[in-house]
Amino acid sequence: MKIILAEKAGFCFGVKRAIETAFKAASKGRGYCLGPLIHNPQEVDRLRREGVETVESLDVLSTGDAVIIRSHGVPPSVLARARDKGLTIIDLTCPFVGKAQRHAALLREEGYQVVVVGEKKHPEVHSILGHAGPDALVVETPEAVAGTQFQQRIGVVAQTTQAYSNFSGVVLKLLELSKELKIFNTICTSTAERQESTQTLAGKVDVMIVVGGRNSANTTRLVSLCREEGKQTYHIETADEIQSDWVKDAGTVGITAGASTPDWIIDDVLRRLQAENTGQ
Ligand code: SF4
Repeated sequence: MKIILAEKAGFCFGVKRAIETAFKAASKGRGYCLGPLIHNPQEVDRLRREGVETVESLDVLSTGDAVIIRSHGVPPSVLARARDKGLTIIDLTCPFVGKAQRHAALLREEGYQVVVVGEKKHPEVHSILGHAGPDALVVETPEAVAGTQFQQRIGVVAQTTQAYSNFSGVVLKLLELSKELKIFNTICTSTAERQESTQTLAGKVDVMIVVGGRNSANTTRLVSLCREEGKQTYHIETADEIQSDWVKDAGTVGITAGASTPDWIIDDVLRRLQAENTGQ
């Protein structure tokens, strides 16, 4: 059995920066992260052991506490509240997310109704919406456009982890409805690269294994892309989940990993598959 790792897999620039800074902060004293730092339970657990606790609300923090803002960012109201409470803010909002926030604010200032193409419940979308004005909307799919009322001047941004096909599908539908449409493609290059290299690999192998948090939007998107290629695909968080049956008849197995999957988990998976290969 041949095992091939996707050319672009695992930590992206924004997540790598967030993890490195959070571990550095932990070495200087206890810190708190507002929501899990990344969508990878194993890495969040490792961070907790180093002294960075996850909290779900600023309410539990006191003046002087260090609070980490994760790569998804937060709405401006949350940052203002953290400042008012006298917290030390370590803002690790990914620059690409910051760009989507700024474009949303600009569209709002120019009088457009802002449409964010993304997942309604995702924290990054929530953070972008905070900059987009009270009449902003989230659209998840091209099909959802038909059932929604829009204004005539629409400004569009994307959740950074969107699949390009979904984003362009929504934009085409909005084009049919609007008098004026202004679009910022805010899909980040790391996401696009991971999606492209996953699709290329899925086209060449018998089985795909996608490694990453089940709560990670970009990882589940890679799973969908592999399945759209018609490939037998398994989504795992750790090497322990691999079953021999999945790969026993496969000539070639492809491995890919979401942007929030650490290298040590990918290495574990590769080692486990090598062991399957040698019958250990
Ligand atoms: S996927 Fe892109 S936008 Fe998201 S953290 Fe990584 S580099 Fe930043």
